[in-house]
Amino acid sequence: MNEYLDTLNEPQREGVLTTEGPVMLIAGAGSGKTRVLTFRIAYLIQEKNVDPFSIMALTFTNKAAKEMRERIEKVVGSDARSLMMGTFHSVFSRILRAEAHHLGYPNNFTIYDTDDAKQLLRTIIKEKGLDDAIYKVNTVLSRISAAKNRLISAEEYLRNAELMGDDAANMRPEIGAIYKIYTMRLFKSGAMDFDDLLFNTDKLFKEHLDVLNKYQQRIQYLMVDEFQDTNLCQYYIIRKLAAVRENVCVVGDDAQSIYAFRGADITNILNFERDYSDLKVIKLEQNYRSTSNIVQAANSVIKRNRAQLPKNVWTANEEGKLIELIKAVSDNEEGRLVATSIFQERMQHQMKYSDFAILYRTNSQSRALEESLRRMNIPYRMVGGLSFYQRKEIKDLLAYLRFTMNQQDEASFRRIINLPKRGIGDATVDKIVVAANDHGAPLWDIVQNVTPFVGGRVAGPIDDFVAMIKRFALEIERKDAYDAAFEIAKGSGLLRELYEDKTVEGLSRYENVQELLNAIKEFTDDPERQDKSLGAFLQEVSLLTGQDEEKDKDPDKVTLMTIHMAKGLEFKYVYMVGMEEDLFPSQMMINSRADLEEERRLFYVAITRAEKRLFLSYALSRYRFGRLKNSEPSRFLDDIDPAFIKVSSKFSSVVESTPPPSQYAKKLVSGIRKTVTSAPPTRPVTYKPPADFVPGDTSKLQVGMRVEHPKFGLGTVLQMDTSGADRKARIGFKDIGEKTLLLSFAKLRII
Ligand code: ATP
Ligand code: MG
Repeated sequence: MNEYLDTLNEPQREGVLTTEGPVMLIAGAGSGKTRVLTFRIAYLIQEKNVDPFSIMALTFTNKAAKEMRERIEKVVGSDARSLMMGTFHSVFSRILRAEAHHLGYPNNFTIYDTDDAKQLLRTIIKEKGLDDAIYKVNTVLSRISAAKNRLISAEEYLRNAELMGDDAANMRPEIGAIYKIYTMRLFKSGAMDFDDLLFNTDKLFKEHLDVLNKYQQRIQYLMVDEFQDTNLCQYYIIRKLAAVRENVCVVGDDAQSIYAFRGADITNILNFERDYSDLKVIKLEQNYRSTSNIVQAANSVIKRNRAQLPKNVWTANEEGKLIELIKAVSDNEEGRLVATSIFQERMQHQMKYSDFAILYRTNSQSRALEESLRRMNIPYRMVGGLSFYQRKEIKDLLAYLRFTMNQQDEASFRRIINLPKRGIGDATVDKIVVAANDHGAPLWDIVQNVTPFVGGRVAGPIDDFVAMIKRFALEIERKDAYDAAFEIAKGSGLLRELYEDKTVEGLSRYENVQELLNAIKEFTDDPERQDKSLGAFLQEVSLLTGQDEEKDKDPDKVTLMTIHMAKGLEFKYVYMVGMEEDLFPSQMMINSRADLEEERRLFYVAITRAEKRLFLSYALSRYRFGRLKNSEPSRFLDDIDPAFIKVSSKFSSVVESTPPPSQYAKKLVSGIRKTVTSAPPTRPVTYKPPADFVPGDTSKLQVGMRVEHPKFGLGTVLQMDTSGADRKARIGFKDIGEKTLLLSFAKLRII
C-alpha cells in the first residue's frame, strides 16, 4: 500500500480507490475533498498505470490546478505535466483551440474579456439607437451570460423570451435582438467571450458527435472539484464527456454554493444522483482544517439555512480559542485594529505574514485596510483587484498582438487603429464596421480597400496601418513569440510613445509593457511548454484571473481578497471584516429567503477558511458611495452560537454611548456580556509608530542597548541568542515587561 494512502481516513481512501464508475463526494468544508481528488489522480497514474494524458480534472482556479499538479508531481514525477487539468474555461478553451474550425471559428480565435464584451455591446446598443439608461451594458451582459449558462441560444431566446423569466419581454424587449447581433459580431470577429468557451464546447459536442467521441475515448477519468458551483452548461459538458465510461468523480459541498448569481445550480447535485443510477455517494464529515470552536461556530451558522443536505461536520482538532469580535467606530479604526491585531499575533506566535488573510464582501472595502497595513509596514497582496493584464498599456499591446493574429477582431481593431494617434476618428471606425456588417464582409476586407467607405483623407493613414499589420504578421511567422512581440511593440510606436512620456505614470506604464515582454520571454523560454506560439500565450493570458497572478517575488504577505476568491483556500488566521447590515448580507441579497441563504453560505465559506483563529469585525460608521453612513452589526453575527465567540478584549475601543446597537448587536452583546466584563482589564493601545519609522538594522545589537519597538515601545536588551539561524533577543520593555523576539521580524530600532 502506498504511504500517501495511509494519510487518509477510511471514507477518503474509499474515494481514492473507487476509480471505476460514478462517484460523488458531498462533504463539509475542510474535510479533505480536494485532497481526495489529488490523491486519486496520483493513485490512477501510479497504481493503475493510467496515462495522465487521459485524465481530466476541473478545478475552480488555475492556481488550484497548479497546486494540485505540484502535489501530484511529488508523488508521480514529471508525468503529471500531461494531465488535462485546470478551470473549465482553460481546459475547454484548449480543446476549442484544436476544434473550433468545426464551428466555423478560426482555431486561433480571440478571447474577449468582460471589458471587450461590454465595449461591443455598447456599440450595438448605440447602433440600434436604444436608450442606454434602460439597456445598461451590465444588465444586458448579465442577461446574455445567464442565457448562455443555461444553454439558451440567441434564437431560442428570441423565440421565447419568457424562458428567461425576467423583464426581457416587457421592460427590455430588445435584449434578444441585441443577443443575436452580439453573437454574430463575435463570430465575425473570430472571438468568443468567457461564456462562449463553455457554450461553444457544448455546441461542439452536440453538433459534432465524431469530435465528442474522440474526447470520450481519450478521457478515461474525469474529476470535478467544487461541483456545487457548476452551472447547467458545465454540467451538460461533464455528462456528455463521461457518458461512455462513466468514470466520473465529483466533489463538492452544497453548503458552500455561492455562485447562483452566475447560474450555478445546486440542483446539479441532485440531478447527478438521478442521472447515474449506480452512483456511489461518499460522505466525509471529519474536518481536518480548523479548531473545534471554528467548526462548531460554522455549523451553528449554516444550521439556520433551510435548504441543505444533512451533514454532521466534526473535528478531532483542539478546541482552540474563541472567535473574536472586533468592534470599531469607523472603517478607518477597523482597519487600524485589524492591522494592529495582525502585527501582535504574528509577533506573539511567530507566524508569517502569509498565515494571515483579510476577507471582505466587496473589493471596495479594501481601501481603509490597505492604508492601515501600509502605515504599519505590513506587506500585503490584494487578490483580484485591478489585475496587471487589465491595465490600459498592457491591453493596448495585447490588442496589437491579438489583431496581428486575427484581423477580424473588432474590439482590438477599435482599440489600436488610432493608437498612437494617426488622425483616424471614431466616426471613421464606425463607418468601417458598419460597412463590414452591411456588406456581410469580413472587417479586414473593408479595411484593406477602405477608400470607397471613408473618403480619401483618412484612407492614407489606414493604408499605412494595413501595411504595418501585414509586416507584423510576417514577423509572427518568422520569429518566436518574444521577438515578434518586441518588434510589434516597437514598430507600432507604442514603446516610443510611452518612453517619451517622462511623467511618473508614463514611466510606470513603460515598465509595465517591458514586464509584459518579460512574461512572453519567460513563456518562450519555459522548457516544459510544448506550444510556444504567441497564440498560446495570448490564450493563457486571457484566462488568467486576478487570483492566478503571481508576479510577486516575495510570497510572505498578508492576503486581502473577497470571500468568493477565497473558496477552497485556507489560512491560519482569518479576519472577516465589514460584518454589517447592508454590506454583509449585501443590501441586494436580503429580499428573498433564497438570496439570504446564499449570502449565509458565503459567510459559512468565510468562517471555514480559518485554521487556528477567526476574527470578525464591524464598524459603526463607514464611507459608502462617498458619504459617511452609520451602520449596524450584521444579522449574521447573531447566527453564531454565543458559546463560540467573544468580544475582543484587546480593543474594546467602542464607547457604549456611540451609535445605538441594533437588535442583533444588543442580543449578541447580552449573550456575551459576561465574557466582556470578566475579561482582564485592558491596556489601551496608545503607542503609535512615528510617521518616519524605519525598521532599524539590528545586526549590531548588544546587551544593554536601548531599543524602540513599534508596538511595545521602549526597552532594554537583556540577553542575546545568536546561536540558531534565527537571532533572538530578550528585551525588557518599560510598559509590558520582558519579551523574547526574533530579530528578523521584530523591526527594532536602536536608540
Ligand atoms: P473546502 O471545502 O474548503 O474546499 P476540502 O474539503 O477540499 O475543503 P481540503 O482542502 O482537501 O478540504 O483539506 C483541508 C485540510 O485538511 C488540508 O490542509 C488537508 O491537507 C487536510 N487534510 C485533509 N484530510 C486529511 C487527513 N486525512 N489527514 C490529515 N490532514 C488532512
Ligand atoms: Mg476543496
